[in-house]
Amino acid sequence: MSFADRARSALARAAVRTQQRNEGPPRTTRADLVEWARAHLPDRKLVVVSNREPYSHHHDGERIRTVRNAGGLTVALDAVMQALGGVWVAHGNGDADRQVVDAFDRVPCPPEHPRYSLRRIWLTREEHAGYYAGFANGALWPLCHIVYVRPRFRLEDWKSYQEVNRRFARVVLEEVGDEPALVFLQDYHLALAAKYIKEKRPDLQVAMFWHIPWPNPEVFRVLPWKHELLEGMLANDVIGFHIQRHSTNFLDSVAESMEARVDFERMAVDRDRQRTWVHAAAISVDADEIAAMSEAPEARRAEIEIRSELQLQDCKVGLGVDRLDYTKGIPERFEALDRLFEKYPEWQGRFAFIQVGVPSRIELKEYRNVQLATRRWAERLNNRYPRPMGPTVHLIEGNLDFRELVPYYRLADLCAVTSLHDGMNLVAKEYLSASPDREGSLVLSPFTGAARELERASIVSPYDCEGLADAFHHALSEDPDSRKERMGALRETVLRRNIFDWTIELLDTIVRTRLRTPGME
Ligand code: UDP
Repeated sequence: MSFADRARSALARAAVRTQQRNEGPPRTTRADLVEWARAHLPDRKLVVVSNREPYSHHHDGERIRTVRNAGGLTVALDAVMQALGGVWVAHGNGDADRQVVDAFDRVPCPPEHPRYSLRRIWLTREEHAGYYAGFANGALWPLCHIVYVRPRFRLEDWKSYQEVNRRFARVVLEEVGDEPALVFLQDYHLALAAKYIKEKRPDLQVAMFWHIPWPNPEVFRVLPWKHELLEGMLANDVIGFHIQRHSTNFLDSVAESMEARVDFERMAVDRDRQRTWVHAAAISVDADEIAAMSEAPEARRAEIEIRSELQLQDCKVGLGVDRLDYTKGIPERFEALDRLFEKYPEWQGRFAFIQVGVPSRIELKEYRNVQLATRRWAERLNNRYPRPMGPTVHLIEGNLDFRELVPYYRLADLCAVTSLHDGMNLVAKEYLSASPDREGSLVLSPFTGAARELERASIVSPYDCEGLADAFHHALSEDPDSRKERMGALRETVLRRNIFDWTIELLDTIVRTRLRTPGME
C-alpha cells in the first residue's frame, strides 16, 4: 500500500471512530480489555489452550511466512496475552511450524514484538485422525448439532481423544510449573483436559468455553462415554456457553447422567467437593474494527472491482459465507433460491448470489458430500436461470483472508445465514458490522445463537423452503427507509456488545468464582 493510501486509510478510520464516539455511550475497546486484565488478573500466570493456534508458520518459497488467525476470539485473547504475558498452548499445524520453535517447542508471539509464548503440540497423522477428525468432528460435532447426521462412536477415536487431551494437560502443567495459574480451555476438542490438569494441580483455576451447541439430554445420552466426558468437564471451575438454552441443556444432561447436585437457579454443579459454575455469554466480533475496515478506501475500491469482475452492475446481490459444513444449510439455501426464481420470476436476471465456501474437514465423507452438493446446486441454478451478463451463482471455493472478505460484505444487498444449527454464527455479526451505510438485509436462521440477539433480522427456518424464498423476496423488495432503520438497529446491537465485552464478562466470571466458591481463596 502506498503512503497516500495508508494516510487515507488512517483518516477514514479516525473519521469512523469520531462518528462512533458521537453516536452514544462509549463502547468497550481493546484498550479497556487490556486495562481490565491488568487490574484483575495480575497475580496468576495466564494459560490459554486451544486446538487452533493464534499464529502459524508457512513456507513461502525460500521464506517462512507468519499467518495470524484473524478470528474474533483469537484477536481478543491475543490482546490479553500481549498485555499480561503467559503461554498459549495449541496444536502446531503450519507446514513450517517446527522450523521456528525452540528446544521446548515454544515460539515468541506476536512475531514482530514478542510478549508471550506459543507452545506447540505435535500430533501424528493417526492422532489427528482419531482425536480431531474421529472423535471431535465425527462424534461430538454431529452429536451436539443435531442435524440428522449420525455421530460415529469408535473406541479407538475416543482413546485417541483421551490421549491427546492428556498431552495438552501435561504440556499445560509443564508450562505452569509450581506457579499459581488461570487456565482457559477453548472448545469441544478439549473436554477432558481440565480433569487431567486438576488431578495433578487441584489448586489451579481452570475454565472452558464450549463454542458449539450443547444438546438436550435425550440426544446427549447416546454417547457411550457420557459419564467420562461430563466428569472431565466438571473438573472446570467455570464452563461457558453462548446461550442460556445450551447452559440449561448441559445442566439437564448432568442431572440425568451423574451423581451430582445441580442448582438450576444459581447455574452451578457440586460434585466431589468441586463446584462448577455454568455461565452463558454470547461471543461477538470486533465490530468497530470491521466497520473501519469496511469504510477504508481499499475496501471501497475492492467492492467496485468485484462488481465489475463478476458483472454485478445491474443486479442485486446475495451473499453466503460459510465453511462447507453440513450444519450451515447451504443446499437448503440454494433450494430456496431456486424457489425464489420460480415463484418471483421478476428476480431472474436481476439477482445474483455469491457463495464463499471454505473447504473444511474434507477427510470426512459428510463434508465431501456437502462440497459436491454445493457445486451441483450452483451449476443447476446457473443452467436454469442464466443471466445475460454472467452467472447467477458465483461459488468461490477457498478461505479468503478477512480483508478480502470485507468488500463482499459491503456489496451484499442480502446476507443469507441459514444454519440448521450453529453455536453463534459470527458471519451474521460481521455482515452487520461491515455495513456502515445501513444498506442490506440479514436473513437469519432461528437455530443460530446470533438469532437470540438479532431479533429484528428476517428470521426464517432453513427447513421451510417456501418461507425462505418469501423472506429473500421481501428482503430484496423492502422499502429503503424501513430497511435502513432495521439495519441500523441491528448494527447497533452488535456495536454495543463486542468481543471485548464478551472477554471481560467471561474472565470476570472466572475470577469471581474464587470469591463465590467455598474452599477457594
Ligand atoms: N471466514 C474467513 N474467510 C472466509 C470465510 C469465512 O475468514 O473465506 C471467517 C469469517 O469471517 C468468520 C468465520 O470464518 O469469522 C466463520 O465463523 P462462524 O462463527 O460464522 O462459523 P464457524 O466456521 O466458526 O462454524
